[in-house]
Amino acid sequence: MDKLNINIKKIRSDFPVLREKVHGLPLVYLDNAATTLRPQVVVDALAGYYLRYSANIHRGVHALSEKATAEYEKSRRTVKDFIHASSTAEIIFTRGTTESINLVAQSFCRPSFKPDDEIVVTAMEHHSNIVPWQILCEQVGCRLKVIPMNDKGELILERVDSFLTERTQLLSIVYLSNSLGTINPVQDVIDKAHQKNIPVFVDAAQAMSHCPIDVQTLDCDFLAFSGHKIFGPSGIGVLYGKEKWLEQMPPYQGGGDMISSVTFEKTIYNTLPYKFEAGTPHIAGVIGLGAALEYVQSVGLDLIMNYEKDLLDYGTKALLSVPDLKLIGTASNKASVLSFILPPIHPHDIGTLIDEEGVAIRTGHHCTQPVMKFFKIPATSRASVAVYNTKEEIDLLVQALFKAKKIFD
Ligand code: PMP
Repeated sequence: MDKLNINIKKIRSDFPVLREKVHGLPLVYLDNAATTLRPQVVVDALAGYYLRYSANIHRGVHALSEKATAEYEKSRRTVKDFIHASSTAEIIFTRGTTESINLVAQSFCRPSFKPDDEIVVTAMEHHSNIVPWQILCEQVGCRLKVIPMNDKGELILERVDSFLTERTQLLSIVYLSNSLGTINPVQDVIDKAHQKNIPVFVDAAQAMSHCPIDVQTLDCDFLAFSGHKIFGPSGIGVLYGKEKWLEQMPPYQGGGDMISSVTFEKTIYNTLPYKFEAGTPHIAGVIGLGAALEYVQSVGLDLIMNYEKDLLDYGTKALLSVPDLKLIGTASNKASVLSFILPPIHPHDIGTLIDEEGVAIRTGHHCTQPVMKFFKIPATSRASVAVYNTKEEIDLLVQALFKAKKIFD
């Protein structure tokens, strides 16, 4: 255990991929904002379903189906407890954050939004929290408004109020920016929106594995996250919604499981949350997600936060020791993400060169092209840390950058 009470040796040993070699060198995995690695317990949970009880859920009366259903619904309770929702009726399994946002756009907004209504987002949203609203705008004639950020990549909080008008029907905000690392003051923003009776959607895709989340304290109306960004499987995620909204929303998709009765004349929809889970879901994924959240709980999100903060501070200083390196995203409240440019080397070249040293980072626009436009750059290199990363790995990143620089100099 180090002084931050994280048993880093144990944690690293939980993640089998960390034992892999890349180009003959130990893997330094710093691409966690794209997707996290999975601990053995998650792989075991997935395999356990496929190896021991791979039956369909909800409709079976046989033992295997009952076991699969019990495990699936246990995961729903784990999610509910993890984000402190008041009921499992508020937990809908989706394919991920993207699908959760599309669901709300189509089922919550589309039926009631009118031309000239407004949806408000921020300047640092992921494309997933832009494009579904733009599609909606094309469908109903409403408009998308964007709260600006400053040069550090911080939301300009004083501007929020002026964007919330009698036309605003929804505010959707990213909790933790994937390209800048900014942690937004979501509580303040939600409070401001609620003073004007405006519902708020929180994109917690990145925040989930770095910040403790309590939807009842936040009082957000909707919140979404993806399993693969919190050590769980890909292709599975969650939409949290307040029951009062979910009740009044029509289903997103029709099919099996989302009905209570069907005739050719009329279909009665199932109760929550099943009304929004049409078809056979990603059963193994849900079970794996439950295992991932239990894993995070066993480590403790507060400890994870403290440990990562120390790592981020160390990484910030270490990166700034590289001549000509400029950090993109220097908000005072940040987590996990170190986005940077190192002119004149193109970010893609940096990514390729340091890969040869076994260091995995992401380069590109990170699905936030408006953020790149704001900073007048085509792309950044992005290192993003998770709880299993170490200062030694940050040193290896920095060494690899010095080496890349030497090649270009
Ligand atoms: N929002 C943010 C902030 C993200 O980082 C991501 C994934 N990079 C998404 C939304 C979309 O998540 P997914 O692709 O898992 O649906």
